Amino acid sequence: STPGGSRVKDEKIFVTVRMRPLSKKEQALKDEIVWDCIDDHTIVFKGSTQERSNLPGPYAFDKVFGPNCLTEIVYEEGAKNVALSALTGINATIFAYGQTSSGKTYTMRGITESAVNDIYKHIENTPDRNFVIKISGIEIYNEVVRDLLKTDSGPLRLLDDPEKGTIIEKLEEETVKDSQHLRHLVGICEAQRQVGETALNDTSSRSHQIIRLTIESSLREHSGCVKSFLASLNLVDLAGSERVSQTNANGVRLIEGSHINRSLLTLTTVIRKLSVGKRSGHIPYRDSKLTRILQLSLGGNARTAIICTMSPAQSHVEQSRNTLHFATCAK
Ligand code: ADP
Ligand code: MG
Repeated sequence: STPGGSRVKDEKIFVTVRMRPLSKKEQALKDEIVWDCIDDHTIVFKGSTQERSNLPGPYAFDKVFGPNCLTEIVYEEGAKNVALSALTGINATIFAYGQTSSGKTYTMRGITESAVNDIYKHIENTPDRNFVIKISGIEIYNEVVRDLLKTDSGPLRLLDDPEKGTIIEKLEEETVKDSQHLRHLVGICEAQRQVGETALNDTSSRSHQIIRLTIESSLREHSGCVKSFLASLNLVDLAGSERVSQTNANGVRLIEGSHINRSLLTLTTVIRKLSVGKRSGHIPYRDSKLTRILQLSLGGNARTAIICTMSPAQSHVEQSRNTLHFATCAK
């Protein structure tokens, strides 16, 4: 448990959906927009009636963001509260989930930038507390964990610590000097991930990236009770969701062996179970690296936001449906 961390009741996972605009390529191919954000909460399919029978919408979420929505708004309305809870001792995780090319990385970059700005704004406005921020960068590729702050990280082992839960052996944790330094370190993690993908000639994004900020604070003046906070904020850019599910109209999952991404599959199971609530029984955190690493920042005493990203195009309708199906199960 986190010192001074106030308990949060089984709060629901905050689930939003962001639809990107049609890409240049999609426009050139005369692809069509087949989904409509009809209000702040609802997405409907507007394609052919024949297809509509397969798509049991309308789909409703905590918030939906249409193609013209700026990432700043996505942050404000879809992630900010969760991000800021890490400043008061509550572990937090923000995910982008969606198929490759749906806008996960685009969204998480903006979310990270806004979160960094907000964190430093909060620090400026809280002169009676002393803050220490540390950052680490984690990549999971084929269940192998690597350090994104190192240029040549070998595979890292996960260890079980009786107090801290799962820890990553030898993971670099750099103390951040100021907001500019933090942006610089985030940039290193992003560059490092790209190097890996290029080396593997893999633009399909099979890896998960976690930027983890650990935020610790205590009152400057020694009063009778020193209230200190410690929590982490996990900013997670997931592997493409086409790696986990091909859900047919009846919600049955058809999995193609070689394409399964164990971490993503386990995460979706964990999220589904958490969203059902307390009585969902055993939650299989230990079945994958990603869920082991995030265990203390998911469910229970933690807050979670999931931003599901999707293409509006006809050509991606199957994957968009899978994403909306996952988003529906998560809320
Ligand atoms: P993913 O990480 O899910 O594979 P990306 O974030 O790389 O997808 O996005 C794919 C492309 O679409 C990129 O060129 C990106 O700049 C663009 N893009 C994604 N989301 C948006 C958006 N909301 N507005 C404008 N362009 C976007
Ligand atoms: Mg990406």
